[in-house]
Amino acid sequence: MTRTVVALGGNTLLRRGEQSLDAERRRIREAAALVARLRDRGREIVLTHGNGPQVGHLLLQQEAADVPAQPLDVLVAETQAQLGYPLQRELDNRFDDGAVTVVTQVRVDPDDPAFDEPTKPVGPFYTAEEAASKPFETARVSTGDDEPAYRRVVPSPTPTSVVESAQVRDLLSSGTAVVAGGGGGVPVVDEETDAGERRLRGVEAVVDKDRTSQVLGTELDAAELLVLTDVSHAYLDYGTDDQRPLTAVTPAELRRHADAGEFAAGSMRPKVEACADFVDGGGDRAMITSPDHLWAALDGEAGTRVTPDD
Ligand code: ADP
Ligand code: MG
Repeated sequence: MTRTVVALGGNTLLRRGEQSLDAERRRIREAAALVARLRDRGREIVLTHGNGPQVGHLLLQQEAADVPAQPLDVLVAETQAQLGYPLQRELDNRFDDGAVTVVTQVRVDPDDPAFDEPTKPVGPFYTAEEAASKPFETARVSTGDDEPAYRRVVPSPTPTSVVESAQVRDLLSSGTAVVAGGGGGVPVVDEETDAGERRLRGVEAVVDKDRTSQVLGTELDAAELLVLTDVSHAYLDYGTDDQRPLTAVTPAELRRHADAGEFAAGSMRPKVEACADFVDGGGDRAMITSPDHLWAALDGEAGTRVTPDD
């Protein structure tokens, strides 16, 4: 069996501009069918997924209702169940050994420089006046409109380890597919109490799901990392008339392109870094492609495919 981490982009579960539950359900069924097919071809599957639209909707709901607001770590955990449950149910319908969703915590370093400079926008858009009255940090975001718009910004620290990776490993060994690391995992820090006891504390941050997928994959000694998104390749000169797809690449080549500023921070860059780190960390191969191109990519005929430096 080939141990494979499949990282599903939030945008493959709810396309940009799609709001309906029916659309989300349909995408979830498609994702489960794809996982089932990978499994039929001899793979042990860990499925990770984004949660951007879903956590955004929870933040909107919180603002609309006069109920106690849950902190962001709890909202991330909520989205792990919100998406994990239907994925798990669809996978249960397809395999004898079924699937289990793991509420997954991911350790981050409390001294990560990301905590000094929150950059990741989450939740609704605000006017300048609304933003000024919010009890959290906001930043101006570009919308293409004349009117300035603001959103909450939170730190996006780098994950250092996945708290539940040993349990995920046990589930895989028993033949169960695992949904884990949803939304990049619930970020936690290690703390010591005054009494000298070690404990985990949830923090108000979000972790990039591609980075978490890599850390989890490396900890599980996975052979493959399949990063599925809404573009068929990582491109050079993306969005210009000269855009060119990257096909077969090594981690060193990817890092060179990343250092030259080719991949946008917060979207393609973390995917590229995740693939490079995964292969450098012992993985056989990693790829970035869309669900439609996955089968051709696995045959070496589509997608951005990363294999070790010689
Ligand atoms: P996901 O939900 O799959 O993580 P993201 O929006 O985070 O999706 O990342 C995918 C997006 O990255 C693409 O839709 C594309 O617009 C953007 N992108 C930025 N730079 C590049 C690049 N160099 N090559 C391809 N896509 C890129
Ligand atoms: Mg993303």
